Amino acid sequence: MQERARPIAEYTIPDRFHSQAYLDVVDTSSAARSCLIQNTAMQAMRASAERHYPDEACGLLLGKLAGQDWHIDEAREVSNLNTERAADRFILDPEAYQTVDRELRGTGHEIIGIYHSHPDCPARPSPTDLANAWDGLAYAIVSTYEGHAVDMQCWVFNVEGKQFQSVAVQDLLPDSN
Ligand SMILES: [Zn+2]
Repeated sequence: MQERARPIAEYTIPDRFHSQAYLDVVDTSSAARSCLIQNTAMQAMRASAERHYPDEACGLLLGKLAGQDWHIDEAREVSNLNTERAADRFILDPEAYQTVDRELRGTGHEIIGIYHSHPDCPARPSPTDLANAWDGLAYAIVSTYEGHAVDMQCWVFNVEGKQFQSVAVQDLLPDSN
């Protein structure tokens, strides 16, 4: 049996997360939109993040946009091509992206987001995450400490498209929809 994760406040936050460069990444106002995630997708994402600890895991979030909200049905792990700095950078396999995109054509589902993990770091985006992000996609970040997924937050571009803004996450249990 796995040891339980400690309360999140007990984990150390690396100094760079307090730097101006990191603070500038986030627009602290709250977005009016939300991210609804099927519990199976939530579990898959957390398991993927834990399996790759202390490296970063990454993958695609599949589902559909409904009005202003992201409805995520599936989290599909994709290789992290960055083997040199797998602990703090991810490069999602573009071929896998194309393959999944083709597979989904005509199904009503599409790639609406990307997830990755932050080993030993909070679930807040870095300047690199912002530089590599695309408008319209939801970015889920799973924080992993000591091999446990301890937090998950979802981020999207703000209206100006220059910073990430946090979106409320709703975990949909099987009997809630
Ligand atoms: Zn990141």
